[in-house]
Amino acid sequence: MGNRALSVFRGDLESALYDAVAELADIRFGSTVQAIAQTSEEVVVTLSDGTRLRTELLVGADGVHSRVRELVFGAEHEYFVDLGHVVGAFPLGTVPEHVPEGAGATFIGPGRTAAVMNLGPQRSSAFFTYRCPDPAAEPALGAAAALDRAFGDLGGGVADALRQLSADPATAYFDSVGQIVMDRWSQGRVVLLGDAAWCVTVFAGYGAALALDGADRLGTAIAAHDDIPTALHTWETSLRPEVHKRQALTRRGISRFAPPTRTHVWAGEMMLRGIQFPGIRGLVRRSIQRANN
Ligand SMILES: Cc1cc2nc3c(=O)[nH]c(=O)nc-3n(C[C@H](O)[C@H](O)[C@H](O)COP(=O)(O)OP(=O)(O)OC[C@H]3O[C@@H](n4cnc5c(N)ncnc54)[C@H](O)[C@@H]3O)c2cc1C
Repeated sequence: MGNRALSVFRGDLESALYDAVAELADIRFGSTVQAIAQTSEEVVVTLSDGTRLRTELLVGADGVHSRVRELVFGAEHEYFVDLGHVVGAFPLGTVPEHVPEGAGATFIGPGRTAAVMNLGPQRSSAFFTYRCPDPAAEPALGAAAALDRAFGDLGGGVADALRQLSADPATAYFDSVGQIVMDRWSQGRVVLLGDAAWCVTVFAGYGAALALDGADRLGTAIAAHDDIPTALHTWETSLRPEVHKRQALTRRGISRFAPPTRTHVWAGEMMLRGIQFPGIRGLVRRSIQRANN
């Protein structure tokens, strides 16, 4: 994600991953991919600092706005399926008042949802999502202005979170929500992985797991096959059904995150109350298990 807000939340994980590979990999910060050329034998990558790297396989794991995808497969709009929402998330410097530690306070209204989570000092955060006709235009407004316009009428913890954001707007992750849908994840010796290839979006609650699983399976496929094309084909064939399922589940469930109408909000509230009843709770648990299998 490459932005401060999410790296605050995931700093521990990033450090653990860095420590695990620092000795094994050549890690470069502050440079980006400028150009990619490939033959049947190799890929030549030119970095922004002018360095040229030759490799047998280039893996583009550079997120939903992937530069590798743009350079090799074409412009983002060819693959980006707009889901009509915007998401903002940022860490809270001050622990939310009136929300017990380990809990969250959520406001769900037609077309918008705000949640303030108290996970204690340094770990508390706020999450916002809203529907809008042109989500791609929202990031240009800036997180603080856009979220204030969409949620500024609310009080309590939401107002407090927005005040904290205005004081330090650079901490926010703020972007439109869209899936990446591609017919092929590789072209010759260049392969895309994770959000770059199949972004399921934040609403799936599964994107990181899918990216890690995809990476693990890619490594296994490369180790098991002598030639790269067979390895990539085997890998993609094995992973596609899971990705397809997760993307479809996310699209079907999206109205839960910012219910389109008051009726949807009411239906959601009724469902939440309904699952308190033991019989219904069992039914819901079984249907969730079925969806995940
Ligand atoms: C607010 C939010 C909450 C989420 N919560 C969850 C959750 O609870 N559970 C879950 O499973 N998933 C969650 N996700 C989804 C999850 O974060 C992603 O699916 C996952 O991070 C994808 O991993 P990735 O490695 O493919 O891409 P990313 O994590 O986006 O990593 C891409 C990396 O590439 C770098 N990069 C980008 N462009 C370039 C370039 N041109 N040159 C060099 N480097 C570049 C970036 O800096 C970044 O480090 C959430 C997403 C969001 C936005």
